Amino acid sequence: MSDFHNYKQEVVDTCHALLNRGYLKATEGNISSRVKGHKFFAITPSNYDYAKMQVDDICVLDYETNQIDGKMKPSIESGMHAAVYQNRTDVHCIIHTHQPYASALALIKMPIPALFDEQVRFLGRGVDIISYSPSGTSFLKNAVKAKIKNNNNAYILQNHGVLVFGGTMEQAVHNMALLEKCALTYLLAIVSEKRISKIPLPIREIAFAKLRADEKKFAELNQR
Ligand SMILES: [Zn+2]
Repeated sequence: MSDFHNYKQEVVDTCHALLNRGYLKATEGNISSRVKGHKFFAITPSNYDYAKMQVDDICVLDYETNQIDGKMKPSIESGMHAAVYQNRTDVHCIIHTHQPYASALALIKMPIPALFDEQVRFLGRGVDIISYSPSGTSFLKNAVKAKIKNNNNAYILQNHGVLVFGGTMEQAVHNMALLEKCALTYLLAIVSEKRISKIPLPIREIAFAKLRADEKKFAELNQR
């Protein structure tokens, strides 16, 4: 059994769970987990059906995307994941999906403002749009790198899908589902053509301060 078994298992189990819950379809999206104590991460292979995916299919890469373990070709978005791990030390798990409601906002380039307390507590001050760049390019990687400095945990990729972070895989999954709920609710509110209210600014800042405190704790895990 390889040193990376637990990380690979976590990635596979999450793929299967999200496939069953309808967030992932066939081969779309990718999931990764930072390998603690190394500058490595475990990530899903490129263009491979989640239903068939097993532990040995998961790749382990370093932050320069050199392949350390696994025989499959890694996800074409590996560079984007590596950029997040290098620039956000609090992030230990990353989920990228093409989930439909948030992807609808990706088409109309509509960021989600601070609508709910729990949204800010876990996803950040707002869900921003990252401008379009083709999948798998350094343009997309650089656009992501620039935007994630605001310490939010969820982003919408224009004409593409979403990028969600967590300090643990459980949190990343929670954040991804929370984003989809916020996207659906926001879309329904937009369709009503009524004025959409946001949470008060001081409440937003209190909730965001709690998220930042969590992020600092997760960043410290990298020092150990
Ligand atoms: Zn994608």
